[in-house]
Amino acid sequence: MTNLEFFKNEAKKFLKDWRTQTQTVESDGIILYHYNPMFYDIKGLFLYYELDDRDEKDKKLARAQHFIAQMVGFKKWDDLIHATEIELELAEYLLRKFKNAEEIMRWEQLTGAPGITPENAAELLDYAKYIDEMDERVRIPFLPSEQITILSGKPRINQLNEFDDEHNPGGTLRKDSYVFCPHCEKAFNFNQSKVIKDNSTNLTMVVCKNFPTCKGMYLDYKVLSHTILYGVAREHELEKGFDIFPNLSMNTKIECLHCGDKYIYNEAKAVIDPNDGEALIHCKNYPKCNGTLIDFMSSE
Ligand SMILES: [Zn+2]
Ligand SMILES: [Zn+2]
Repeated sequence: MTNLEFFKNEAKKFLKDWRTQTQTVESDGIILYHYNPMFYDIKGLFLYYELDDRDEKDKKLARAQHFIAQMVGFKKWDDLIHATEIELELAEYLLRKFKNAEEIMRWEQLTGAPGITPENAAELLDYAKYIDEMDERVRIPFLPSEQITILSGKPRINQLNEFDDEHNPGGTLRKDSYVFCPHCEKAFNFNQSKVIKDNSTNLTMVVCKNFPTCKGMYLDYKVLSHTILYGVAREHELEKGFDIFPNLSMNTKIECLHCGDKYIYNEAKAVIDPNDGEALIHCKNYPKCNGTLIDFMSSE
């Protein structure tokens, strides 16, 4: 049961901070207000809510309550008093982290500041928790190395597998995605990423394959789309292989040294490398197999 006492107490703290107000008068007659708060960034919040001179002087509990209600997305204190259980749960969660205008601004920008309603409260609460968890996760690469475990084996695979769900930016990241890390400026297959764990919270983060030298995270990755060629364009690219290996023909039986598969050269794939726009001849098992023309051996 969410206790209204919590909000009443917070309003009192807000008022206490507000009452630390002192004034100085500038040479041009403009009054500046100063605060020495313990709980809330009063000055920043008043700036954010564009308080005028009279309002800023009006230090009353009812006004403080109004601000508390407004900060978490109610229009007025009376709405907070009469809110449903889930609305209050969200309001309390938000107020526990909203101590300055920057936090509120970020939340309002992320959500579009819809205000709290009985209909949206549960979803917003989940979202708020998700954001906080992400904030925790993006700190993991910067923790002292003894506080981090680099996962391997099944735990690592399990984490990477999550990225075939919607748990990734734009839903474009796949285990077989070819990605670019803008921090170390290297491109690699997503499944070469490292998975690191914060030993104290057990939260994990998928990071650049060059971690710990590179602190890039999957959120920074640029997913490079690869284009597999078909028809004449594909044949044209495969024929370029004949310049490199004069004995090669479309019907040459080859073996890919990378995956060990045997097939005729005509089954190979031509793929445009998104890094430079150049087509490369790949193993027919691309993108599962990373083999390219130089990995092909005649198996005749
Ligand atoms: Zn990197
Ligand atoms: Zn292969």
